[in-house]
Amino acid sequence: MAKETTTKKTTTKKSTKAKEVATPEVATTVASPEANVSSADRTVADKLIALSRLQETFTKIDHIKTLRGELPLEVQDLEDEIEGMETRLKHLEEDNKRQVQAVATEKAKIQKAEERIEEYKEQLNNVKNNREYDNLSKEIEFQGLEIELSQKRIAEGTTEIQHRKERIATLKETIGERRVDLEAKQEELARIKGETKQEEESLRAEAIRLEEGIEERLLHAFTRIREGARNGLAVVPIDRDACGGCFNKIPPQRQVDLKLHKKIIVCEYCGRILVDPELVEEAHQHN
Ligand SMILES: [Zn+2]
Repeated sequence: MAKETTTKKTTTKKSTKAKEVATPEVATTVASPEANVSSADRTVADKLIALSRLQETFTKIDHIKTLRGELPLEVQDLEDEIEGMETRLKHLEEDNKRQVQAVATEKAKIQKAEERIEEYKEQLNNVKNNREYDNLSKEIEFQGLEIELSQKRIAEGTTEIQHRKERIATLKETIGERRVDLEAKQEELARIKGETKQEEESLRAEAIRLEEGIEERLLHAFTRIREGARNGLAVVPIDRDACGGCFNKIPPQRQVDLKLHKKIIVCEYCGRILVDPELVEEAHQHN
């Protein structure tokens, strides 16, 4: 609630300001109230130099990130892929274990049926009538069919187990290969991180130090523009009469204004903060 009020107040102030100086083409979002006066503490040129230095520092950090490139993403992808394959492997192994058990059960059934057949055959020697003979013969026949059924199940089960074993072997091989890939990528990433760690840390510390010297509203604008910019550039020099961010031509009058360092000027096409190349050079010398 309090924040909203503040924002509203700021906007009102800004629009008033824009009317006063009659420069509607300048995006007022980044123009601070004191942007048109060489304020006692910091001149616009100083602010632009500070912003340029911050930009240069962030560009260096971005460069380090570019060195790492797709590696962090590739490592993550490989880890996910391996995890998925290991789950599949576990299921296949469980299925095989179950089926081996099922085959053993069928083998035990055959054993039992054979024993029964033996018993019935013994009894056949002592039958008293045709009915008894027929019953025993039917029982023997039935057990024979049971044996055939079990044999069929064993054959099918064994084939399935064999196929699954082949899939397990292939999967294990693939997992092994992915692990080698993963290790190589992890090592590479760790190496790059190790090499750039100190540099990145000191750049981040430098960025924090520079941010402290920039007024909050300007810093907020800088961050917002940077986040929206594809190349991470929020502050750009004018290069051959064009914006160094989007390469659109800058009108001559605006270039003159820019050279005066009287106010903060943004590109009317991309919204980036434009800086006189001389100031960028000065900022670079400072860094
Ligand atoms: Zn531009």
